[in-house]
Amino acid sequence: MECPNCGSEMVKGNLIGDRYAIKWQPADKKLVAGIFANGGFALKDNSSLFGRPKTEAYVCENCELLTVDLKTQRKK
Ligand SMILES: [Zn+2]
Repeated sequence: MECPNCGSEMVKGNLIGDRYAIKWQPADKKLVAGIFANGGFALKDNSSLFGRPKTEAYVCENCELLTVDLKTQRKK
């Protein structure tokens, strides 16, 4: 994948969660009871049955930019 900022080739990798799927939440929303994400969405978990949650992501080492393609990595 090409970096949208500088055009360099990005390094393919994964965001690894601990136990549950990684979630994205808008900055103007708050966690419910300090733990439950509200008003955002979960990222797709590509792990095997007993593996840790894993979402494909790309890093541009030139811009230090991390990107996730939500067309394929957003949990449906
Ligand atoms: Zn870049």
